[in-house]
Formats: sequence, structure tokens, C-alpha cells
Amino acid sequence: MNTFDDLYQEIVLDHYRSPRNKARLDNVPESMVHENPSCGDAIKLEVTLDDSGKVTGIRFDGRGCAISTASASLMTEKLRGLTVEEARSVAHRFIRSLRGDEPLEELDNMGDLVAFKGVAQFPVRVKCATLAWHALLLSLPEVKGTSAA
Ligand code: ZN
Repeated sequence: MNTFDDLYQEIVLDHYRSPRNKARLDNVPESMVHENPSCGDAIKLEVTLDDSGKVTGIRFDGRGCAISTASASLMTEKLRGLTVEEARSVAHRFIRSLRGDEPLEELDNMGDLVAFKGVAQFPVRVKCATLAWHALLLSLPEVKGTSAA
């Protein structure tokens, strides 16, 4: 188990030290900042979509602990190229797994996001890990006319 834990930790630390798609988003108003008061994490997002409604890019700005920053960084990579509905579905699955509403093993099929599996046993940390994803769900446009079965 130690090997796996180390691997997870390595993924988180890598994304914390070198966050992907982190940028100054001065054009995004402060009213769009999402916060996790229990830890002091704050994040805002910029999601760009192409004409067909696919996510072409996500950038984030803000401050936070290793877990919130790494989670945001991984999210920007994980969701690129997905449709809005797909991105929404991944976000729901990630949040629900960490909260215990779905089996934690769901994370095993979610690439590097499995690195947050150990977070599930610490409710305060779950808020850190899911902050960016809640922000995303509020930032994605509503898509009408698609069947979300
Ligand atoms: Zn945090």
C-alpha cells in the first residue's frame, strides 16, 4: 500500500508545485470566486468552449492548499475535449465518490484523479479536493436539448 500512497502523493505534489493551466484571470470578476472557508482556498475559473459545445480549455486562478490546487490542475487536463455534459458528469462522479454517495472505487477509473482517493476519509479535505469541481459545475453553461440519461 505504501507504494500506492507514495504515488498518489507524488501526483498531488507535482500538480501543486507545477499547476497546469493556472493563470492570472483578471478578466474574471471577484464575484465569481469560489471559496472553501474551512481551509482558505479560493478559486475562479475560465472555461472556453468551441462551437459544438466541447471544452477547449479551462484555466484557473486563485490560492489554496496542495490538495485544492492539485485538484484544480488535474481537472483542467481531465476535462479538455469533453462535451459540457461529459464534463458535468465527470465532476458529479468525482464529487459523489469523495463524499461517499457513490463507491470510492469509481476513482480507480478516472486516471490520475485516483490520487485523491485517500482524501475521502478526511471530510475537511474533501472540501479542498472538490472546490474546483463545484466551481466548474457553476461555470459550465446549461445545455438544453440533450438527453442526460
Ligand atoms: Zn484546502
